[in-house]
Amino acid sequence: MKHTKSEQLFKEAEKYIPGGVNSPVRAFKSVGLAPIFADKAHGDRLIDVDGNEYIDYICSWGPLMLGHSPDFMSEGLEEMAKRGTSYGVATEIEIEVAKIIVDAYPAIDQVRMVNSGTEATMSALRVARGYTNRNKILKFEGCYHGHSDGLLVQSGSGTLTFGVPTSPGVPADVVKNTLVCRYNDMDDVRRVFEEQGDDIAAVIVETVSGNMGVVPGTQEFIQGLRDICNEYKTVLIFDEVITGFRLAYNSSIGYFGVEPDMVCFGKIIGAGMPVGAYGARKEIMSCVSPVGPVYQAGTLSGNPLAMFLGKKNLETLRDHKDIYSELDRKGKMLQEGIQNNLKKLGLDYTVNRAGSLVCLFFTSGPVQNFDDATKSDIDKFNAYFKEMLDRGILIAPSQYEAMFLSYAHTDEDIEYTIKCNYEALKASHN
Ligand code: PLP
Repeated sequence: MKHTKSEQLFKEAEKYIPGGVNSPVRAFKSVGLAPIFADKAHGDRLIDVDGNEYIDYICSWGPLMLGHSPDFMSEGLEEMAKRGTSYGVATEIEIEVAKIIVDAYPAIDQVRMVNSGTEATMSALRVARGYTNRNKILKFEGCYHGHSDGLLVQSGSGTLTFGVPTSPGVPADVVKNTLVCRYNDMDDVRRVFEEQGDDIAAVIVETVSGNMGVVPGTQEFIQGLRDICNEYKTVLIFDEVITGFRLAYNSSIGYFGVEPDMVCFGKIIGAGMPVGAYGARKEIMSCVSPVGPVYQAGTLSGNPLAMFLGKKNLETLRDHKDIYSELDRKGKMLQEGIQNNLKKLGLDYTVNRAGSLVCLFFTSGPVQNFDDATKSDIDKFNAYFKEMLDRGILIAPSQYEAMFLSYAHTDEDIEYTIKCNYEALKASHN
């Protein structure tokens, strides 16, 4: 497989864009390869600028539940664009999308549109702090909630779990109110609540983490968070930027049977357009400007073209709930196929899955938290990634990401992926 044009474009891009990319993971740096540049994509296939075709398991990192550019998506889009691409005053379609989201998610009465998942989590935390009049927030090691300052944190050492910035440019002062606990560890959470529970405004969690590979929260953990937040009157926020409308139509509520106080969405609700949203009961959302004092705004929030595509995506998922059982079946097929290959090759690795999110960890299991995930053999993963790419299978260029299945992934393509997985594992373990 030749990547001549991608390589040329990368050199050019590096001159004008830091690292040649607008989001770090696209640089393929962790796998030590030059990145590919996309030309177009349809269904489960992505074609790069050199004409190489891949079965795509990145799928824009989650928004494309129905695969790339389903034909019906673009119908009417040109017409919409001709009527205007942004107005700066309210539109009817914003109400329609808000209503679809609120109807789908029983825990919320109202939702505010923003432009990304990062904005959604950042804004939700501000609202939770304003609502509770408390400063501290609690997050979990290995969970990613976007790149706002207060969330770029890892756990520090010491008896109390305090935040340490993971990026230069984030002052220690900014993260001093961010506490970090181990994922899936209620004992750790209880310890922190016993010490500082009355100061904790919010707990923010990915119910199934898709940012340390795929690590599902256990039922006890998610329920435990609900119970402890009730006890301390702390706002429980589910960050459903990945899981929203993916695990089930009613997202984690359907999957775990647990309701949060607030929710953050992104990705699927915009069908690939830059969109995020946060929502809660009216009592909490009444804190938000212009009703309440907590300020949050956006020039392009609720953008009509983004709403147009998001609405189509959500309506399709709402009206064809069989999509979820189909995706679960496909996820299971992929998981079991990889597990069989591991068995045949005598490799003691772990395949985690939640619905259509799948991850092969290059370590023995169980993988239930960040420490477990980081035991993975990264050199082996990198070799495997290259072997898969050479066979036309595009997976995320990092061990700590999910394989995103879409409704457009055919059984034949999944079977072919399983075959390539066998060959790639074999080739990278010689
Ligand atoms: N929350 C979660 C769970 C995510 O996975 C991401 C991004 O992948 C974000 C928040 C941030 O979203 P965005 O990249 O749209 O800012």
